[in-house]
Amino acid sequence: MHFAWTQEQNQLYQRILQASQEILHEESKDLPRWWTRAHWEACARIGLLGLSIAERYGGQGYDALTTSYAVEAFGRGCVDMGLVFSASAHLFSCCMPLAEYGSADLKERWLPGLCAGSYIGANASTEKEAGSDIFALKTQAWREANGYILRGVKSYVSNGPLADLFLVYARTNPAHGYLGITAFLVERETPGLLIGESFEKLGLTSTPVCQILLDECYIPVHNRLGQEGQGALIFKRSMQWERACLFAAYVGQMERQLEQTISYAQKRSQFGTPIGKKQVIAHRIANMKLRLESARFLLYHACWLFSQQKDATQAIALSKLAVSEAAIQNSLDALQIYGSAGVSGEDGIERMVRDALPATIFSGTSEIQREIIAKELGL
Ligand SMILES: Cc1cc2nc3c(=O)[nH]c(=O)nc-3n(C[C@H](O)[C@H](O)[C@H](O)COP(=O)(O)OP(=O)(O)OC[C@H]3O[C@@H](n4cnc5c(N)ncnc54)[C@H](O)[C@@H]3O)c2cc1C
Repeated sequence: MHFAWTQEQNQLYQRILQASQEILHEESKDLPRWWTRAHWEACARIGLLGLSIAERYGGQGYDALTTSYAVEAFGRGCVDMGLVFSASAHLFSCCMPLAEYGSADLKERWLPGLCAGSYIGANASTEKEAGSDIFALKTQAWREANGYILRGVKSYVSNGPLADLFLVYARTNPAHGYLGITAFLVERETPGLLIGESFEKLGLTSTPVCQILLDECYIPVHNRLGQEGQGALIFKRSMQWERACLFAAYVGQMERQLEQTISYAQKRSQFGTPIGKKQVIAHRIANMKLRLESARFLLYHACWLFSQQKDATQAIALSKLAVSEAAIQNSLDALQIYGSAGVSGEDGIERMVRDALPATIFSGTSEIQREIIAKELGL
C-alpha cells in the first residue's frame, strides 16, 4: 500500500489551490447572486472545467483520483462552493457522459467549448415525481423522421438558467423500464425548450437552478448519447463520477474550515483562557479532524478503485455518505465553536453550514447510499 501523491499531483494541487483562491478576485470579493461568466472563464483557465476530459478535446486527461485531488484543492481554495459545485456538476454529469458515450462528432462539436469555458453544461434528470426513484421518470421521447420528439418537465436543473447544453434523460420505451431510457443532448436554442424561472435555495446559493420544459422539442438522432435504451447506464456512470470526484470539494472545504476553526479557538478567549484550551472544545475539534480524515481516505480509496476500472460501487457509496455527513457535522461543530460569530457569518461559517446541508441530498441521498451499501453486502 502506497499513500503518497506524486510530485506532479502535489504541484497540481498547489497550483489549483492558489489559483482558486484568486478566482473571486476576477470581479470582486462580494459574491454576486450567481457566479458570473468571468468566474466561469477563470475556472476554465485553471483547467477545472475539463480535468478528466482527454487533452485532444482541450481537457487535462486526468484519471478519477488525480481529478478528485484537483477538485479538493478547488474546494479548499474557493470560498464560493456554489461555483465549485456548478463547475463540478458541469464536468461530471454533463461533460463526462458526453466524453464517454458521445459520438466522435458530438465530442468534437461540444467538448472543446465546454472545457474552454465558452459553454456551460447541465444535467436534467430529476422530475417532480422522479427524485430518488429516478428511473420512474416520465419525460417521453418518440421517434420522428430522423430524430426524436421530447416532451416533459425536468424539475431541478443546476446551471439551467445559464446553460448552453442540457443532458436530458427521457423514456423511449415505456415497456422496457430501466432499459427504456435514453440520453439526449439538448441545445439551449432548441425550439420548444423553455427555461423556467430560477428559484432560491438554502445553500450553494450562487449555483443557478431552474425547471426546464420540453414542449415537443425535435432532437436530431445524432444528438442522442449512446444507444437507445442506454440512458440509465449513462446516468449511473455519471453519478459514479459525481459521487466520487465532486465530493472531494467538501474534503477541501472541511480542511479550510478546520484550519479556520483551530485558529479561532486559539485566538478567542473566555474566562481568561483561549477556548481551544478547554477540553470540550479541543475534543470537538479532534472529532472534526477524525471525520475529515476518515472521509478523505474513503474518498481516495473510492477514486483509486474507479481509476483502476475496478468495481467501485460500494466504495463510492461509502465515500459519498461519509464525506457529505462529515461536511454537515463538521460545519455544525465549527458553528458551535464560533458561537454568535459563526451565526453572523464570520469567516463564512454559517455559509459553510448552508453549503453542506444539500450534500446528503444531491447525487443520491444518504438513504440511497445506505441502500446501495446494504445491497452490496448481500442484504
Ligand atoms: C443542490 C441540489 C442540486 C441538484 N442538482 C440537480 C441537477 O443538476 N439535475 C438534476 O436532475 N437533479 C438535481 N438535483 C435533484 C436531486 O437529484 C434530487 O434532489 C435527489 O435525487 C433526491 O430526490 P428528491 O429531492 O425528489 O427526494 P425524494 O426522492 O422524494 O426523497 C425524499 C426522502 O425520502 C428518502 N427516500 C426516497 N427513496 C427511499 C428509499 N428507497 N429508501 C429510503 N429512503 C428513501 C430520501 O432519502 C429522502 O430522505 C439537485 C438537488 C439538490 C439539492
